[in-house]
Amino acid sequence: MTETNLSTKVVIVGGGPAGLMLAIELGRRDIPTILLNDNPATAIQPQANATQARTMEHFRRLGFVDEVRDLGLPPDYPTDITYFTRYSTHELARFQLPTRAEAKQRAEAAGGRVASFVSGKTDYLVVGGKPGSKAKKAEELGVRVLLEGEFVEFLRDTD
Ligand SMILES: Cc1cc2nc3c(=O)[nH]c(=O)nc-3n(C[C@H](O)[C@H](O)[C@H](O)COP(=O)(O)OP(=O)(O)OC[C@H]3O[C@@H](n4cnc5c(N)ncnc54)[C@H](O)[C@@H]3O)c2cc1C
Repeated sequence: MTETNLSTKVVIVGGGPAGLMLAIELGRRDIPTILLNDNPATAIQPQANATQARTMEHFRRLGFVDEVRDLGLPPDYPTDITYFTRYSTHELARFQLPTRAEAKQRAEAAGGRVASFVSGKTDYLVVGGKPGSKAKKAEELGVRVLLEGEFVEFLRDTD
């Protein structure tokens, strides 16, 4: 076994989202860090199908939100919520949700302009399960906040 002499202030064990984010945050503060992970490569199976708004805000702050978004579902991919008796058998119920592209298209067809930020000119902010600082800003500015389901209803009303 080869012995390596390494000097660091912080050793992070585990290169999952928690370890990687900590390493990035410390690196940005010029704190020397070594990250150890028992797995030599990324996981074969996805372990984050959905990334919430608050997490995306952190990714934006850290400068790689666009790369993460590009790795996400294609804009025309359905995100319906379905209930099955067992995996892929006997569908019991389905909540139809518009694709990202469709939501944008329908909002624009209804006369809206879609933006990725909140300002005094914003009329509505659509939020998911864990609203972050955009929702706070919307509240401060008196912008009406719509939950995803309310947004779907809203689009239906404009059809
Ligand atoms: C199938 C699946 C789907 C999921 N979908 C979502 C989702 O859609 N959205 C969402 O937000 N979350 C999702 N999660 C949860 C999300 O993956 C976890 O919350 C997240 O990975 C936890 O991050 P972590 O850094 O704490 O731990 P982990 O991701 O488990 O990372 C720990 C790392 O430490 C390494 N390690 C362990 N022991 C040692 C050791 N002794 N020495 C060195 N390295 C070690 C492991 O190999 C691993 O790389 C999903 C999880 C699973 C399993």
